[in-house]
Amino acid sequence: MKTDPKKHKDLDSIKKNKQRLPSQKNKAYLWFYIFVSLILIFSLFIKYNSATKEISWLRFDRDMLRQNDVEKIVVINQSVAKIYIKENKLSDPKYKELREYFSQSKSGPHYSIRLGSLENFEHKLEEVQKDFPDEARIQVTFVNQINWTSYLSWIIPMAFIFFIWFFLLGRMGSKGRAGSIFNFTKSTAKLTTKESKSKVTFNDIAGLKEAKTEIMEIVDFLKNPDTYTKLGAKIPRGVMLVGPPGTGKTLLAKAVAGEAQVPFFFLSGSEFVEMFVGVGASRVRDLFKQAKENTPSIIFIDEIDAVGRSRNRSNMLQANDERENTLNQLLAELDGFGANTGVIVLAATNRADILDKALLRPGRFDRHIYLELPDKEERLEIFKVHLRPLKKAKDLNVEELAAICPGFSGADIANICNEAALIAARQHKKEVHQTDFIKARDRIVGGLERKNKITSTKEKEIIAYHEAGHAVASWYLKNVDSLVKVSIIPRGKSLGSAWYLPEERLIITKSQFIDQICASLGGRVAEEIIFDDVSSGALDDLEKVTKQAYSMVAYFGLNEEIGPVSFYDSMGKNEQLLVKPYSENTAQKIDKEVRNLIGSAYKRTKQILLDHRNELEQLTALLIKKEVVEKDELEKILGKRNNKNLTVSSYKT
Ligand code: ATP
Repeated sequence: MKTDPKKHKDLDSIKKNKQRLPSQKNKAYLWFYIFVSLILIFSLFIKYNSATKEISWLRFDRDMLRQNDVEKIVVINQSVAKIYIKENKLSDPKYKELREYFSQSKSGPHYSIRLGSLENFEHKLEEVQKDFPDEARIQVTFVNQINWTSYLSWIIPMAFIFFIWFFLLGRMGSKGRAGSIFNFTKSTAKLTTKESKSKVTFNDIAGLKEAKTEIMEIVDFLKNPDTYTKLGAKIPRGVMLVGPPGTGKTLLAKAVAGEAQVPFFFLSGSEFVEMFVGVGASRVRDLFKQAKENTPSIIFIDEIDAVGRSRNRSNMLQANDERENTLNQLLAELDGFGANTGVIVLAATNRADILDKALLRPGRFDRHIYLELPDKEERLEIFKVHLRPLKKAKDLNVEELAAICPGFSGADIANICNEAALIAARQHKKEVHQTDFIKARDRIVGGLERKNKITSTKEKEIIAYHEAGHAVASWYLKNVDSLVKVSIIPRGKSLGSAWYLPEERLIITKSQFIDQICASLGGRVAEEIIFDDVSSGALDDLEKVTKQAYSMVAYFGLNEEIGPVSFYDSMGKNEQLLVKPYSENTAQKIDKEVRNLIGSAYKRTKQILLDHRNELEQLTALLIKKEVVEKDELEKILGKRNNKNLTVSSYKT
């Protein structure tokens, strides 16, 4: 299907409008400020011009009327009499106050009298003037005037309220597509067109071969729909990208935008969520309307869990009806367009388990692309992508880098490359070396080194024995990953750490679980053997051990007494029930089995450390001296260990 040139013209005009909008918005503000300023200036002007000194009838009668000082009287709106004094009388000392009041001579009116009743005023005036000769009689005129001051007294507060409203809604609207107060119900999606396409291409994505192939197929659906429709196939409507954080979901979508050559609407699920009821749903409607007007097109909703959360869950807490309305609208829109309309919706989440089932059913987001954490080969490729902009030293061994970063996501690798460059720059190096990458890796895994964190000699000794305990125990356990170094330099929250290169495995056997628990207990056991006392430093280890033991017993069916049953709740339903999915009796049995398991692992570890107490002492002494002990020195003390394929995790104190 060819793209309609007219549609592209429309898109151009949308684009131009978008570019024009900020200045239009500023202009609107400018006009508003001018309007308010004019009102203020005008009100001051009127106030100044109509300013007169108010006097009583008595004073007017005694000092002015009877002295024949009055030039004329102007009665305004039958309520105020404005008095004009003859110019030649103004120099009289009794009018000195007028000069102070007006600061310079003023043609009048000079005084005013508030009239209770006009008839009364006329009557009194007549009484006083009845003996005046005709030419001395004062001329009284009546004028009807708009009372601007009273009008302004409510116009200004109204203008102020309007301004606040305009400002607040304007701000809210500025999050919206058009940035105008009337557009905040419109979709906030960013539109990428052929001309302003994303610079990310599939070349910038390393690994993810299967995901790339699947997503390229979708691009192909849009470019050549006939190939598929002529065989009667339906083009998919929704594709869900699922994977742990940092695995490249957004990157993949951006690459689609870069390669697809069709209008691409990009927004985050949270952009549907607004404090006003109905805004989310109307934004969804507007988004799909725009996408349909621009077919073939792609919509990408990042972090869809912000709106797509299972409705059952929110019902339980009686919360967020607005989000539910938005989700319902999304479901309706996904159903609402036919199979081959040329709009494909991509969405990304790292919590597919909490999404509403209706969203994932066939006909909606029925294609799921799973993005896993990269394996060693993929990490190597990702490293190569992120090493492109760096000035690399010749000693760089990318293979080794990929090997020492197991479990790292693409985002972590990007972070390591950047961190390594920063470390090299801090040391004024001309190129980034292998050591910089290793330091960056250690920093990302363990946190920032805090060398000057003062620990007393006694504490240092306890930490050294603790870490040596982990090291010695894991060295003599068959199923524990290979140890690469032990350190007692505090990092992040930990006071010391044992670094391992774990094997990349997808499943863990029972004996591997037990050996890992023993290795984690090594620190606490060493403290007990050496000092006959234990410290709080094993908190992380104990937390990890307890979780591992509970998952073995209650989830993985690895305990004989409890049997091959699993109480794992992949749907998160148990959270709502607020009760355990097993009886009180089973709960007690699980607790007992967990205690037995950890107890026997503790005994086993103690035996290993007692058998190798000599090595434990030697390693501790070396640690206190050097703070970091690498693998070759470990081998000198503990002997050769069968090497394996390795990964990083650390047991921290
Ligand atoms: P989240 O779920 O947290 O939003 P995500 O899966 O959307 O994460 P991205 O934002 O796509 O992750 O990735 C973050 C960064 O990680 C990217 O900008 C990129 O630098 C890097 N990255 C991730 N995966 C890859 C990859 N396969 N190839 C190259 N770079 C990658």
